[in-house]
Amino acid sequence: MSGKRILTVAQKAVSHIKKGDPLLAPLSFDEEVTFSEGELVQVVTPVGQFLGEAYLAKQNKGIGWIYSWEQGESFDYAFFLEQFKRAKSVRKSLLHSKSTDTFRLFNAEGDGIPGLTIDYYAGYAVFSWYSEGIYLYKEDIVSAFREVFPAVKGVYEKRRYHQDDEDASGFIYGEKAPSPHYVKENNVLFATYLDEGWMTGIFLDQRHVRLDLMSTYAPGKTVLNTFSYTGAFSVAAAMGGAAHTTSVDVANRSLEKTREQFEINGLSPEDHRIHVMDVFDYIQYAKRKDMKFDVIVVDPPSFARTKKRTFSVLKDYSAMVEDLIDISSDKGMFILSSNAATYKRKKFRSDLEKAFRNKGIDYSIVKEYGLPEDFTTVKANAASNYLKVFVVQKH
Ligand code: SAH
Repeated sequence: MSGKRILTVAQKAVSHIKKGDPLLAPLSFDEEVTFSEGELVQVVTPVGQFLGEAYLAKQNKGIGWIYSWEQGESFDYAFFLEQFKRAKSVRKSLLHSKSTDTFRLFNAEGDGIPGLTIDYYAGYAVFSWYSEGIYLYKEDIVSAFREVFPAVKGVYEKRRYHQDDEDASGFIYGEKAPSPHYVKENNVLFATYLDEGWMTGIFLDQRHVRLDLMSTYAPGKTVLNTFSYTGAFSVAAAMGGAAHTTSVDVANRSLEKTREQFEINGLSPEDHRIHVMDVFDYIQYAKRKDMKFDVIVVDPPSFARTKKRTFSVLKDYSAMVEDLIDISSDKGMFILSSNAATYKRKKFRSDLEKAFRNKGIDYSIVKEYGLPEDFTTVKANAASNYLKVFVVQKH
């Protein structure tokens, strides 16, 4: 047998782990656990019953992950190979899609290797490593990946456990992708930059929301896209035949990047508005001008600090929706999103309901979204199912 350390979890953590939550947190143990990054251990109950095979690593979610519920399972090339094969087989339809060539190829614990996600961008892949511990297994992981996905032309990586994103992005093997590299989602093109910091230009978890915006919510409507980043929602809306779109983001880069997304889809950016501006200032400006929008998209970061103010979804989402109600048309629609794992669906729903109630507006929630199917999650680990989107219609 291996010389693995055996770690005893606290009694209070046992039932949760048995339900299938693979995350090990400092509170999962009665005593402080010291370890070296990537150390493999066996986790047992206080009476010595086997729970799982785990690796230890410091990352924002905890101090380690159970990677297998089978005693004796190794964390090596053969194991990684199996996980990649399974991930590939459950994504058959996306891998063969004619209209979409960008999606999540591998989603960490949801696909069997906690701490690693892999996104697919039309022939290229981007690995994101979430701890130094998992990074130590890079060589075996990358060779197993190459074996299962020989058609992938080139691979990049983001080391997301690094504090600054200076040297957090790198190239691993194969051919380099063009920059920009065009990818396609439901036949809408997006310009991505696979080697520029942590963000590539598109958030792949909003695929279903963008599709519904394009096909159902936006046609013929005026659309305001707040926190618009590269304008992905605006472009989807415009491709679906929105009457007009307005994008608002405080980052300077958003102007040029949003123009680019319109242009590559054969749309003229001149037909749309793109404001480099604080969303909160824009709302006041739109109120003064008595502007009204039929569809308002809100997909903010969990937390943001600008020169003038800080915004946190937990504290400020509700008041922001109240403000936005003032610039929405009769029967206006809202697409309200949050990717903050700490902002629970129930609280988000009650915050937005409060906003409509405070304004005395009748409304209904017409649709809710979570993560798309390629962002596989583990049911027992609620935090990994971080995306919440509500579509709200004013009556
Ligand atoms: N909704 C986008 C992703 C948003 S990322 C999409 O679908 O692609 C968050 C964005 O919010 C960043 O581009 C950041 O520049 C912007 N941002 C943060 N605080 C802001 C503020 N106060 N006003 C406007 N934009 C802000």
